[in-house]
Amino acid sequence: MDSSLQEIQPLLFDGIEMGAPVIIAGPCSAESEQQTLDTARALSDIGVKVFRAGLWKPRTMPGSFEGVGDKGLSWLQSVKRETGMAVATEVATIEHVRAALEAGIDILWVGARTTANPFAMQDIADALQGHDEVAVLVKNPVNPDLDLWLGALQRILGAGITRLGAVHRGFSSAGAHLYRNDPQWHIPFELRRHAPTMTILCDPSHIGGKRRYVEPLSQIALDTGFDGLMIECHCNPDHALSDSAQQITPQDLSALLGRLVMRSGRPVEDELSLLRQQIDDCDHELLAVLARRMRVAREIGLFKKAHNLRILQPQRYQEVIKARLEEAESLGLSNDFIQRVLEAIHEESVNQQL
Ligand code: PEP
Ligand code: MN
Repeated sequence: MDSSLQEIQPLLFDGIEMGAPVIIAGPCSAESEQQTLDTARALSDIGVKVFRAGLWKPRTMPGSFEGVGDKGLSWLQSVKRETGMAVATEVATIEHVRAALEAGIDILWVGARTTANPFAMQDIADALQGHDEVAVLVKNPVNPDLDLWLGALQRILGAGITRLGAVHRGFSSAGAHLYRNDPQWHIPFELRRHAPTMTILCDPSHIGGKRRYVEPLSQIALDTGFDGLMIECHCNPDHALSDSAQQITPQDLSALLGRLVMRSGRPVEDELSLLRQQIDDCDHELLAVLARRMRVAREIGLFKKAHNLRILQPQRYQEVIKARLEEAESLGLSNDFIQRVLEAIHEESVNQQL
């Protein structure tokens, strides 16, 4: 285990008591000076001390809103001047880092797509050399790979940045899921083992992808020892140019924070809730896999119909059961239990094909 990550101390921000949850809020993207300042003022009024807004937006599809770029830096400076909040933005290239440092941005965060790329991480680390005044947050990589996340943190640390933290925003996965990004909570929990005192925040907005998931995910995060939340807030979320479905208004944030059960001080990790969370993760995966299996069954049904084949093919079924039982046994699963599960699945598959 990397000894230097073990020693990273919690991030402190003006106006946030040591041990109190760090709340970072602001729009996915700064869109105009007006929208940035309106949102920032409303957030400052409800007591938020750290403001976020993306200026350079990594977008999956070309042609979507890619951020306002450098010109938004002066808007963030206005937010800082007017409200006293610390300001944060995402950096992905050497040029972003230089421009943000020059503008006096307090916190730089590295987005999930960038964390997944060691070349880009090294460029960012090199550009940060000698700037130990800035705080850096590293979001998890898009793919569920703890080592990539650790490696990215180590590169930033290697540049002499000790005001370092991490943000859990979930992981991409194929197929339909409840959330936009699969939380796979065990990965940030494992990160905690490597960096026991480092600030680890949760971004329920990018995990959930929808407004209604922000609150329950935030509560899970606080219950499982995260040090705070990064939540996307927009003064007019329905008209946001990016991530509209997951942004909430500052008023909604205020109400949500009022309902959350906050823990004082660094929460003691509650073993039982960590374990329960893993059970929830497993159940989500199981349901997604079952849904995929039934979809394939329906496709097979259509294929058999088109080719005039019988739906029930007993020999194939016997072979499948035998192979699955052997596999299950090697995984330590009881024969009787798996037989019952497989029968139930097979029955539903046949129903779907019919
Ligand atoms: C964001 O915070 O707006 C963002 C792009 O996040 P992520 O890198 O987690 O997708
Ligand atoms: Mn976003």
